Amino acid sequence: MTDLATLLSDTLAGHRLTEAEGRLLLDATGCDVLAIAAAADELRQERVGDRVTYVKNQNLHVTNICKNVCGFCGFGRSPGAPGTYLYGKEEVQRKARLARERGVTEICPLSGVHPDFTIESYVDLIAWIHESAPGVDVHTCSPEEVSFVAKKADLSTVEVLERMREAGLGTLQGTAAEILVDEVRQVICPRKCDTATWLRVIREAHAMGIRSTATIMYGAGETTRDRIRHLGLLREVQDEYGGFTELVPLTYIHQNTPLYRAGLAPAGATGREDLLLVAVARLFLDNFDHIQVSWGKVGPKMVSVLLLAGGDDLGGTMFEDEVTVDAGAEEAAYMDPAAMARIAADLGRPLWQRSTTYRLLREEPPV
Ligand code: SF4
Repeated sequence: MTDLATLLSDTLAGHRLTEAEGRLLLDATGCDVLAIAAAADELRQERVGDRVTYVKNQNLHVTNICKNVCGFCGFGRSPGAPGTYLYGKEEVQRKARLARERGVTEICPLSGVHPDFTIESYVDLIAWIHESAPGVDVHTCSPEEVSFVAKKADLSTVEVLERMREAGLGTLQGTAAEILVDEVRQVICPRKCDTATWLRVIREAHAMGIRSTATIMYGAGETTRDRIRHLGLLREVQDEYGGFTELVPLTYIHQNTPLYRAGLAPAGATGREDLLLVAVARLFLDNFDHIQVSWGKVGPKMVSVLLLAGGDDLGGTMFEDEVTVDAGAEEAAYMDPAAMARIAADLGRPLWQRSTTYRLLREEPPV
């Protein structure tokens, strides 16, 4: 086996890491971790420069009622459970107008998969937001939601995507990917679409010119082999269409989730694993420009470290994130661009506001 220094220098020179090599990097310990982070940082500088970006966005939760009640999630609740809600047109449009007044360029309806939702529910939702906040990217619907309503309506998933685009869908959410290994999905989200369906819907969207994020939710008990397989599948899709805007690593927030409470999942990933996920993603995903570091998941201090390990994007302002807060995170609701500018300035890097698809909008004044 090649030694680490040679593998990293070959990678910086253009070698495409195999999954076995990627796994070796994910399993690193001790000072090797820092060497991998340093290589990822160098590659980030080469690929996208020193700019740190963020998007001014707002989540919009429509319902926390969910047919899937995944074991790793603290947000989705069964119908009739205490604390459930479902907003209608008036509340959705009020929230969308508020988001627009705040100057957001992206609204992310992010909800449970309500068992009664149909294609019409999603088309209406997208249209309501589009009408209340014209010009704002409506970034919504995962492959899970697309395939769920397609089946109900006896439509193809391509037809559903077309209807959503006509209603005003801007970009698709690359959520519900979790870990794209069916044996893992059977444990953490058995009611969600399988790996093949997730990949097929994403390919269809990208082939139609609908771009999406890519996500990985890790730390709920899967192996490093599963993590690298997941990244390998994303890299294959990206080779075909180039439709992923970025990778969004989502570390498992465990505290209030059924799997953790039942003793069936660990207490999330460690800091070493968080660092290596970002660094190895940067090195392994040679066809992705952007690796996001999620302040809502890891907190503002760790985010700063991850920006030194291959990350280049701070994600969004969010304004609300019940998915993360309900799972047990403490700092997930809103991050002011001034706070982001402070993080970037501390690293000697400029902060830029971007659009959903990474068009640069403006440089934030340094703090
Ligand atoms: S992760 Fe999504 S699909 Fe699963 S329970 Fe939570 S809201 Fe529902």
